[in-house]
Order: sequence, then structure tokens, then C-alpha cells
Amino acid sequence: MRILITGGAGFIGSHLAERLLSGGHEATVLDNLSTGSLENLAHLRRSRKLHVAVDSIFHERVLAKLVDRNDAVAHLAAAVGVKLVVEHPVRTIETNIHGTEIVLRHAARRKRPVLFTSSSEVYGKSAQAPFSEDDDCVLGAPTAGRWAYATSKLIDECLALSYWREQRLPVVIVRLFNTSGPRQSGRYGMVLPRFIEQALRGGPLTVYGSGRQTRSFAHVDDVAGALVRLLEEKRAWGRIFNLGNDEEITINALAREVRRRVNPRAAVRHIPYAVAYGDGFEDMRRRVPDLARIRRLIGYRPRHNVEDIIDSILEHLKPKRRSQEPEARREFRIQNNSARTPYSGS
Ligand code: UDP
Repeated sequence: MRILITGGAGFIGSHLAERLLSGGHEATVLDNLSTGSLENLAHLRRSRKLHVAVDSIFHERVLAKLVDRNDAVAHLAAAVGVKLVVEHPVRTIETNIHGTEIVLRHAARRKRPVLFTSSSEVYGKSAQAPFSEDDDCVLGAPTAGRWAYATSKLIDECLALSYWREQRLPVVIVRLFNTSGPRQSGRYGMVLPRFIEQALRGGPLTVYGSGRQTRSFAHVDDVAGALVRLLEEKRAWGRIFNLGNDEEITINALAREVRRRVNPRAAVRHIPYAVAYGDGFEDMRRRVPDLARIRRLIGYRPRHNVEDIIDSILEHLKPKRRSQEPEARREFRIQNNSARTPYSGS
């Protein structure tokens, strides 16, 4: 299959591209490099089955051509990270809602199946655990900035499912739970790369709130493998799937584990949410997925635990093999698409 990956130079997108290529598929990455980076794809640059277009999903002429040339779309392009979402709510809402609207419209025109990556964030602050796909979504008031992201992802889900119901456009919705691993950046808030980088620098590790809140961390290898399987699976059409790992851990325990594996001398400092993210920030107490549905359909079982994730990030951060962005850029045959020079294909 030929798959168009929007947001394919991002952390998860680049792992998906890698998996698709190793499974014999062809991948075209469309990314505006706002949070993604060509460095994430540098190790794949020799593959003849990878094509890269540095452009925006809002550039409809380019998007239309890329949709035409591919058999399916994995739509990952979105605003990413709690920090970015809280600091840039307008950009978050516009990117997530308008971007998905455009992608679905063009996919529908050519009846190309779309896999849409949603987020566990849509379950909101429901106190239930674990979260199942048919559970209610309990979002907070719009005055608390965080909920802009969940609301935008929920609208996207509703739109995708409406295309399926009304026009029989094949859509698969995947609610990603905290996914981590090599190449994830801590710049936009993600806790694991932040803790590891903090520990490497000698500390302190900054735990927000009491640290008694829980998350369940999945290794990006497990997630990328499952995304490929879902793209290949017609029985997934019109359905929502949780994807992640169901091993729950408190953020305090996560900080302890990072210290133990990376730097036992690093201190841990607790910081109020208001200092980290501003007044009115709400965090969720627990977040753990029910994985029964995806297990039934594709036999999914996560193979990596938190320790594996920490070790793999650490390995990746060893400085020697890291190329610089400008070098990676030079080595790609970039499809540079401006309004004046329409995408010419590869
Ligand atoms: N967190 C933390 N220190 C950090 C970054 C995040 O304690 O430097 C906490 C954050 O408040 C949340 C958890 O770690 O409770 C996971 O945060 P992340 O932003 O990675 O993901 P999300 O909140 O979307 O689950």
C-alpha cells in the first residue's frame, strides 16, 4: 500500500513511516515541520519508498495531489503537547479542527481510507479506570485552557464518524494514550523525555502537582506496529480503538524509576500546576486504557514496559549518532511546495 502520513516528520509519524517501509509499504510524509523535524526521518533517507513533502495540510492543492497518489491516509498532523496547547490555544483549535476537516474532505473525494489519531485526552477527567471506547467523555469548562485540545479532537472524531455514516468513507479512529520512546521531544511538555533530560543534566526532575496522578506509558514501537495493522484491517473501519499500554504508574514512581536508571543523584522537585501551566489548569488523576477491543481485533499486546522506554530514550540521547537538522535537510530530496510551484510528485 501507498500511505500518506500527515505529520509524518513528528515523533509518532516518523516511527509509523519506518514501520510501513519495513513492512514493504510506501510512505509519503506531509509535514510543515512546525513541531516535526527532518532529523526524525534522517535514518530512512536512503529508502526509495519514502517521499517527503515539506508543506502544510492547509495547502489544499498539494494535499489533493498527495491524496490522489496514495491508497490511504494516516492523519497525524495536529497540535501536540500540553505545554503548546496551553500556550497557543487558537493555533491548537484551528490546526486540529480545520486541518482534519480538509483531510477528510479530500479523502472522501477519492474514497481513501483515513486512520485518524485521536487522543486519550478525550476521556477528560472521568474518574473511571480503565477507559473503554464507549465511555462518556467528561470534559471541563472551556475557561480551563487544557480542554481546547480534547474538544477539538472530539469534534474531529465526530466528523470522521459522520463521513463514515453518511458517505461510507472508511475511517479508523485511534485514541493514543501516553506514547513515548526515542526521538520524542520534551519541548512541548511530554514528561518522560523531560525527566530523562533533567536527570542527565544532574536534576532536579520537576514533578507537577502531588505526583500521585497516574499515566500508562506505551513504547512507540508497540504503537507504530499496531497502527500499521489497523491500516491493513478493513474490520477496523467505522470504529474507535484505544491504543497504548495498560500498566499504570504514578508520576512520583516514574520520577523514581528515571532517577534509578539514569542518575540516582538527581533530586526531585514538586512544582504546583499553576506555576507550570498557569492558573486554572486541570490535570486528570488517572489514565489507563482498556485494550480489550484492539486485542480482540488484531491481537495487540504491548511488548515494552516503562523500563524499556527509559532505556531506549537514553540510548537515543547518546550524542554521537545525532545528525544536525540542516544536514538532514540537505540530504533529502524535498518536495518543496509553494503556491507557485505545485507538488510534482516523485
Ligand atoms: N508532568 C510532570 N513534569 C513535567 C511534565 C509533565 O510532572 O515536567 C506530569 C503532568 O502534569 C502529567 C504527567 O506528567 O500529570 C504526564 O504529562 P504529559 O504532558 O507527558 O502528558 P499528559 O498530561 O497529556 O498525559
